[in-house]
Amino acid sequence: MSSALAEDVAIPDLEAYRLQARTWLADNMTRRVGPPEHHEVEYYTPEVIAAGRKLQRRVYEAGYAGISYPKAYGGQGLPVQYEAAYLEEAKDYVLADFGILTGTTFGVCVPTMVAHGQPDFLAEFVPKVLAGEALVCQFFSEPSSGSDLAGARTRATRDGDMWVLNGQKIWSTYAHLADWGMCLARSDWDQPKHRGLSWFAVPCDSPGLTIRPIRQINDTSEFCEDFFDDVTIPDIYRIGDVNEGWTVTQTMLVRERGGGRPIDAKAELHPGPLAPDLVELARRAGTAADSTVRQKIARAHTIDFVGAALSARIGELNRLGRLDAGSAAYGKLFKGVYDPIRARIAVEVGGPGALAWDPADAHGPDTSLYYLNCRIMSIAGGTNEMQRNGIGERKLGLPREPSFDTGKPFSQVLRDATNWTGKPNT
Ligand SMILES: Cc1cc2nc3c(=O)[nH]c(=O)nc-3n(C[C@H](O)[C@H](O)[C@H](O)COP(=O)(O)OP(=O)(O)OC[C@H]3O[C@@H](n4cnc5c(N)ncnc54)[C@H](O)[C@@H]3O)c2cc1C
Repeated sequence: MSSALAEDVAIPDLEAYRLQARTWLADNMTRRVGPPEHHEVEYYTPEVIAAGRKLQRRVYEAGYAGISYPKAYGGQGLPVQYEAAYLEEAKDYVLADFGILTGTTFGVCVPTMVAHGQPDFLAEFVPKVLAGEALVCQFFSEPSSGSDLAGARTRATRDGDMWVLNGQKIWSTYAHLADWGMCLARSDWDQPKHRGLSWFAVPCDSPGLTIRPIRQINDTSEFCEDFFDDVTIPDIYRIGDVNEGWTVTQTMLVRERGGGRPIDAKAELHPGPLAPDLVELARRAGTAADSTVRQKIARAHTIDFVGAALSARIGELNRLGRLDAGSAAYGKLFKGVYDPIRARIAVEVGGPGALAWDPADAHGPDTSLYYLNCRIMSIAGGTNEMQRNGIGERKLGLPREPSFDTGKPFSQVLRDATNWTGKPNT
């Protein structure tokens, strides 16, 4: 991660650093047996999160959390290659697992906060994040603004050195397990919609904030709806300049859509094993010798390899500081399009056992759940259609979508929408 802070940091030799990390991991962490475990949403309880916090603290105290974060904020101030080297060494060890909060905290929200937040706030807040004490969820979407993120109607009213937030957020993943949320709110209703927005870091235990999990199709509660009733926070929690929230949003969207993770591009370009999850599924289903099944597994392997290559390329653009929201959209769109295809392949490979299983079989529901969850990436963080719009407008130079509200004060947009008759103005 890059930072505007100029810091005097001694840069160690990369290979020596890697060896040091390897030794520390071997001496202090537990090596994982088998491939990384995938856990369903319900696995993540306050107890599991607490166990993760302990592991995270151990890593932080050894200086391996926030390797590329500024020293002033509790990191090591090293180039991103050092983080990639550590992650490569650590990939076979049991590390803190906060589920999706790992990505929203370390991949999206906190890097965005570091890029735009107030130094005094960051100096206190980021070390807590790196030590596993502050996990951050996203208070972005609202019932009336998802794709149209700039249409946020949560109201931020200034009161001296404080801000008072009122409104509703929705689809906030794991908000019920998070410590903080990064919240988009409208701070000026008389500006055009992209110009009257501000971002805030909000403690989840703030008086007036009610966080309610939503029951979903897969019988879990991954998301929450969040009600802000006079939630009062100090100005130092503001992220970015007042009414300049759209600039912060651009940083956040690049992170959200694929630029969040340091990647060793060369390491990612190996084809890797043949879709191990599907090979295992075929073995369990007794279909591994079926030539049609083998072709399907080969197709999934192609998807995996192309996805890894694209992800490595996007990671490299990110490392070079050349990643924009338009380029990041390619990676997001790839997942949105191919996750459903791969999940369908899994159902076909698994045969009837993928759809009905012995309740005693702990892995019985896995394929069905995979299928039910396969649309996530086509919606979360911006739908496939929005990625296509972004690529068309930002990368291919196609004309922008027609807009009726870009230049109008947002309060007037709402008034006009309320009075809209569907008939042309005379
Ligand atoms: C698994 C998951 C996790 C999520 N986690 C979070 C979270 O942690 N925090 C958070 O704030 N939100 C979260 N979201 C919400 C997510 O960001 C929104 O669902 C998404 O932005 C779409 O918004 P919407 O649901 O309001 O759909 P809408 O914006 O109402 O879109 C409905 C349909 O219209 C299409 N559409 C809308 N506008 C256009 C356009 N201009 N051009 C072409 N097509 C268009 C869309 O593509 C879509 O098909 C999550 C969603 C999912 C599925």
